[in-house]
Amino acid sequence: STVYLNGEFVPHERALISVEDRAFLFADGIYEVVRVYGGRPFDLEPHLARLSRSAGELRLPEPDGEHLAAVTRELIRRNGLDEGTVYFQITRGVHAPRAHAFPTGTAAPTVVVLTHPLSPEALAAGEQHRREGVAAITVPEQRWARCDIKSVSLLPNVLAKQQAVERGAYEALFVRDGFVIEGSSSNLFAVLDGEIVTYPACNYILNGIARQRVIRNARELGYTVREQGIPLGALDRCQELFLTSTTSEVMPIVAVDGKPVGSGAVGPVARALQAAYRDAVRALR
Ligand code: PLP
Repeated sequence: STVYLNGEFVPHERALISVEDRAFLFADGIYEVVRVYGGRPFDLEPHLARLSRSAGELRLPEPDGEHLAAVTRELIRRNGLDEGTVYFQITRGVHAPRAHAFPTGTAAPTVVVLTHPLSPEALAAGEQHRREGVAAITVPEQRWARCDIKSVSLLPNVLAKQQAVERGAYEALFVRDGFVIEGSSSNLFAVLDGEIVTYPACNYILNGIARQRVIRNARELGYTVREQGIPLGALDRCQELFLTSTTSEVMPIVAVDGKPVGSGAVGPVARALQAAYRDAVRALR
């Protein structure tokens, strides 16, 4: 496949990054993942706006959103991408010898855009998970206090997800100060006393693009959405639990730490929000 690297379209095997790149040495970079449905990027604009915000928070030069949107369409075309994802990464670039502080002078950022197709098997697995619901585990929060930045520094997320996989679960949910705040790569919603509850967008979570869309959809459908913490102790009395992300969409959670959520089956709120999300995807065509 073709990869975009620093202003050029190059074959995947020639898209190589220096060992002195600051993302390799310090995880000094940011990223985005955009879902492509039927050859069309979904919510590209808010993803690129968030990339721009992440860049600002890391004091990286502001990315050119229009250029990246054009690159996205060109890569989808060149790679014949139908169902899949587009991955963007911007790093502080190459800086030798290794030193923590920002490079002085004119070190250019490294900009990478690549596409990944989703196989029919992966798509079918996603559909099955959304139909039947998935299991999750809870883990203590071990990340930093700027989770609102979509940084490639993902070690605690990687370790949490691996724990979930080893325990046969789909996602690990971080617990901070007694509240279940979000997943290792997803946002979390609960239905509590008939209302939808999700942790407020602040420095402790990534404000997901899917999260924002689902909140809008829920309000349009007439649900009350409260942006507040879900107490860990409330999990055994919530009617429903679901997570959202660009790749998972609206994913029902039917068990946490081996205990059923609500009736143990996918609930009506998750079903309604899945349908609303899919309506938006269909409207792309
Ligand atoms: N929270 C974290 C920590 C994530 O890594 C992600 C996505 O990767 C999300 C939430 C969901 O964000 P989005 O809906 O933009 O995919």
